[in-house]
Formats: sequence, structure tokens, C-alpha cells
Amino acid sequence: MSEVLNVEEIFAKNVFTLGKMKERLPKNVFKEVKRVMEQGGELSLASADVVAKAMKDWAVENGATHYTHWFQPLTGITAEKHDSFVSHPDEEGKMLMEFSGKELIKGEPDASSFPSGGLRATFEARGYTAWDITSPAFLKEAATGVILCIPTAFCSYKGEALDKKTPLLRSMEAISEQALRIVRLFGNTEATKVVASVGAEQEYFLVDSEKALQRDDLIFAGRTLFGAPAPKGQEMDDHYFGVIRERIGAYMKDLNEELWKLGVTAKTQHNEAAPAQHELAPIYETANIAVDHNQIIMETMKRVAAKHGLRCLLHEKPFAGVNGSGKHDNWSLTTDNGVNLLDPGDTPNENIQFLLVLSCIMKAVDTHADLLRQSASDPGNDHRLGACEAPPAIISMFLGEQLEDVVKQLVETGEAHSLIEGGKLETGVSTLPDFQKDATDRNRTSPFAFTGNKFEFRMVGSADSVASPNTTLNAIVAEAFCEAADVLEKADDFAMAVHDLIKEYMTKHQRIIFNGNGYSEEWVAEAERRGLPNISSMVEAASTITTDKAVKLFERFGIFTKAELESREEILYENYAKTINIEALTMIEMSSKQIVPAVVKYTKELADTVNAVKAAGVDAFVQVELLNKVSVKLAEMQKALEHLMEVEAKAAAMEEGKERAFYYRQVVMKAMEALRTPADELEMMVDKKVWPFPTYGDLIFEV
Ligand code: ADP
Ligand code: MG
Repeated sequence: MSEVLNVEEIFAKNVFTLGKMKERLPKNVFKEVKRVMEQGGELSLASADVVAKAMKDWAVENGATHYTHWFQPLTGITAEKHDSFVSHPDEEGKMLMEFSGKELIKGEPDASSFPSGGLRATFEARGYTAWDITSPAFLKEAATGVILCIPTAFCSYKGEALDKKTPLLRSMEAISEQALRIVRLFGNTEATKVVASVGAEQEYFLVDSEKALQRDDLIFAGRTLFGAPAPKGQEMDDHYFGVIRERIGAYMKDLNEELWKLGVTAKTQHNEAAPAQHELAPIYETANIAVDHNQIIMETMKRVAAKHGLRCLLHEKPFAGVNGSGKHDNWSLTTDNGVNLLDPGDTPNENIQFLLVLSCIMKAVDTHADLLRQSASDPGNDHRLGACEAPPAIISMFLGEQLEDVVKQLVETGEAHSLIEGGKLETGVSTLPDFQKDATDRNRTSPFAFTGNKFEFRMVGSADSVASPNTTLNAIVAEAFCEAADVLEKADDFAMAVHDLIKEYMTKHQRIIFNGNGYSEEWVAEAERRGLPNISSMVEAASTITTDKAVKLFERFGIFTKAELESREEILYENYAKTINIEALTMIEMSSKQIVPAVVKYTKELADTVNAVKAAGVDAFVQVELLNKVSVKLAEMQKALEHLMEVEAKAAAMEEGKERAFYYRQVVMKAMEALRTPADELEMMVDKKVWPFPTYGDLIFEV
């Protein structure tokens, strides 16, 4: 047996937890830290100095040599710039490791190369990082040594958000404030804040790294741009929840251990639907910590993979023809005195607070369906949404049979007297227990599904940060709560007013509810009849963040200014254009330098064979036919390649912005698809030995 792992002992070993602070800080400083964490405000510089010293001592005891302000610029991933604790030596040459409160609280990286969408020109390059005291500092053990990572927000000189964390934190404050008004109306005087909780389930692929490194598309684009389907895909459903192979198991074991040390509650692991696809889910936690931890999960997945000779692909669609990867974002709201606003209880039809919350969420999701859709878009996710493997690009809400029925009764009569019960599940086997089943089944096809005491936003892409989806969710629900509270706080007869409001919201917004098959063609038509937006791609979704409706929403709650939103729209276009540009260039390179030469060589071999066979006096019918077919496809491919080169050059010469992004989407992407088709057909025709890189079969079945 291998050594016994004491999980309780290693858990959060590399985190500067509240417990460690309590041990290491003087009582009054610890109290101040806790107060700022819970109620906001600022730490005094004197206290910050004490915290910094304690943090540094702990980090150094654990081998740290450097610290970094760890932040999340608009690249969607994390950024770090290491500074060692080394200080100026004294005159005798002795050096002491140092770290001040100022360095802890504030940083000023010259981070002018990050996307800022015009918010900051390089000549006004100042950007600041500010400590997010509510997300714990941690130690990253990497080849660089041990690095103390301090989660920070990243803002411009003028205070504009240049990152994903700042707006998220702002949205958390907004939802807390507005949700408090709601619970106060129902007599909850104890709660002092309402916390948005998030549990993000992370899907990923693992492939052999030696094979992956033979493919430029995996190296540069993170997804395959060519590749004929293997004879087998996922049709047997034998990978989903299947026995985890030893090599993958060893990876998961290591990954869990690394994550546990970092205080990430890695909880669930299993094989996913596609071959070589897997999933990891942590336990839910406060939204900003969950967002940070999801970044840590993605980073750790990649790092541990390298140690196992594997490559972790987080792209939403690494392989055509089998499922891509997403990230289910589970979201709920809980008061600090323990009430989950999304818990319907046993009798949701009588739970007025729950029904009000539900009606507000219906209103929020219906009113801002476009924003939610946008928050889950990135270039990779365009391949997934609406492709019958993930939710469609149309936002709708799944409530399940029981709640849908309650809503129906309320809309029709204003009352909901009856409740569909779950009933007993009988297995028909005397030795198996019968049990009470849930009143509601699940719906895999819904983008926004109620699952018991939380909503599961199932649209998010696997590579994307979950910051934007949760910022949007918090914002739109805060608005609905605010508008409801505005009415109800003024009402003379609260009971009557709340009853009317629930009925009004549910009636007005019931079109957002859909419990059927979201993958069906009928739904697309039905959604159109209902007037629900169907935004098919990232570039089309980008402008939703700058509509008057969106600006009003985000400005009202201080989450984004108009300038911040406009800059973000620009960045979305740039990001899309750059991504497709890299993909197109990679296809051009792989075609011209690898596929075409390989096929040309193969045709020569065939021609030589034809001649040899003919010389031997035998009919070379098959060889000639094959040579013909391959040559025709090769010509087709060459033509498609030339076309792609042409449109790519045109796109590259265009000015940055919306028009260019649309050109990439509408013209360059089409040309890429047109090149891929003959290339994949050729892969099926030619000798495997001449194909210049590993195939789908090699990659996803031989891990
Ligand atoms: P599923 O069966 O859909 O995988 P799970 O119950 O396993 O559902 O939960 C999936 C994710 O949802 C996990 O990260 C879990 O911690 C999280 N989750 C569970 N309850 C809540 C909640 N109340 N709020 C937010 N996330 C939650
Ligand atoms: Mg789930």
C-alpha cells in the first residue's frame, strides 16, 4: 500500500488561513482584520505592517523566497510578478528578509501591456493592485520556488477596474445590500449581509503531452483545428462515469493533494462524456473565493499534468465530434445568519419569501437574458453553445415540475394551494430501500436550471473565468430585488402588496421558463415566438454590455461605469479577433508545411507504385483510382488554403474593433472550416504512416 495521506493535516497547509492569523497576530490586530473582512473598511497601515510581517514569517518558514500580487486581468487568466523578500544589506553585508504593510496592501506593477480597451494608454501606464483581504493568501510551490501569492484587485490610476475581481466584489456588495432589504421585509433583523455562493464544476481533457506537442494546433490554439473522427466517439457512453484508468487516477490523486494543500475543497471527480474528458468539482464557497479557487484549479490542473507527462486541455472544444467542456456555475444567496434565499423548504407554495425571490430572479433573467448570455461567451464557447451538447445560446429557466406548477397556479389564480409531491421511488427489489424522491427531475439541456436550493448556470465555458457570469448574476438580481423592495417598503398592506408583486412578476416573465428539451429545433422556433434573444456568438453578444439597459443597470449599482463597459466591449472584439487570427495562422502553417507536403509525398509513392505495378504487367486500377481521388482532394485543399491566406491577410490588415471581429467570425472562420473539410477527408484516405501528426484516435483513446 502507498503511504497514508492525512488529508485533514495537509488541508490548507499552504494557505494563510484565519486560523494561522489568529495564532500569529496580536489580538487587537486579528480583531481588526476580521472586522475588515466581515464589514469592509480599511486596515490601518500599522496593522497592515503587523499582518505583513506575520505573513512573511509564515511564508519564509515554509520556504518562500518571493511574494506576488496575484491578479486577474482581462486576459481571463491570472497574472503575477514576483518580488523577493530580499532587502538592502546593512554595512556588514547582512541581509534580512522584509515585507511591509504597504507592500501587502498595494502594488504598482508596470502592467501596461494588459488589455485595457483604451481605458489606459501606455503613456499613463500606472495600474495598481489592491489586496482582497477576504480571499486568503497562499503559497504556490513551483519550479521557481515557493511564492507567496496575495489575491488582489487591479485598477487604473483613476480607479477604473482593469480586472475581473473588482467588478465582482462590487456586485457582491450590491446584491448583499439589496437582498438584505428583501429579508428585512420578512422580519429578518439579524442578518447583516447576504453572501453569493458559487460552486464551479470544472470539465477538462487530458492527453499525452508528447503526442500533443506534435500538433501545432494544440500548442498554439489549445484545440485541434484538423482531425478526422476516430472510428469510435462517445456513442457507447462507456467513458462517462467509467472506471478511471490508472494513469489518470494517479493524476487525479496528485491534483487533489495539491488542491487540498491550497485550501481548495476538491470534492468530486469522474470521467465525463467524451473520451479523455474528466471533471472536478469543489464545494461551493463565497463567490470571490470560488472565482480565485477556480483559477487555482485550472492552473494546478495544467501544472500537475506536466508532471505526469500529460497535457490538460481546458479549451471548450478541443475535439470536433465529441463533447466539449463547460463549467457549471452553481449559485445561491445566503444570509450571514444562515438562511439560503433559494431554499424553497418543504412547501414552496406557502413560502412567500422564496416565491418573491424566485419571481425576482425570473424577472432578472428575462430582462437581462442578453447579458447573461454574454457573460458566458468566449471564443471557444461559440463551438459549444447550441451544438446539442451544451445549452443552446438561448437563455431560459428550468424550474422543474413542482415549481413550474406553483408558478402556473400563481399566474392563473394568484394562489398556489396544491403541491406536486415527489412520492416514493420504488425499486421493485425487496432488499433495496424505497426512498422519497425529489419533486423535480433534472434537465441537462437547460442553461439556467433550478436544482433544489441553487441555480445552476450551465452555459459557462471551461476555460473562462467564472467572474463575469457571477458579476452579471449578482447585478441583475440586485436590480430586481431593489425594484421589488422599492415597492414593498412603501406598501401599506405588505401581505397584499407582495402577493400582487409575485403575481405580476411571474405573469410578466413566465416566458423565460422552459422545462422541455433545449436541444430541440422546436425550442428555437418557440423561443423566437416568445421573443427571447438567440445570440449565436461571442461577437454578436459583445454589444449587449453597452446598451442603455446594461449601462443603467451596472452604473446604478456602481459595478461598471459606462467607460469601463465600453472598454470591455472593445477588449471582447480584440480578444476574439486575436484568437481566430492565431487559429487561422496555425491552420495555414500546418497545411502548408505539414499536410500538403505529406500528401504530395504520398501521391508520389502512389504514382511510383502505379508505374511499378503496370511495369509488372498488372492492372493498377485501384492504385490509379486512389491516386486520382487523393489528387482531387489535394487540389481542393490547396484552393481552400489559398483562400484562407487571402482572407486572413485582409483581416490582419483591418483596423482593430467590431468590424474586424465580425469579419473574423463571418469570413475567416468560414474559410477555416472550408480548409478543414478536405484536409480531414485526406486524413481518412492516406496511409497513416505519412500523416504528419497524431490523430484523434491516438490522442483521445490512447492516454
Ligand atoms: P450536481 O449533481 O449537479 O453535480 P452537486 O450537489 O454535486 O450537484 O453540486 C455541484 C456543485 O454545486 C458543487 O460545487 C457544490 O458544492 C455546489 N453547490 C451545492 N449547493 C450549493 C449552493 N447552495 N450554492 C452554490 N453552490 C452549491
Ligand atoms: Mg451539476
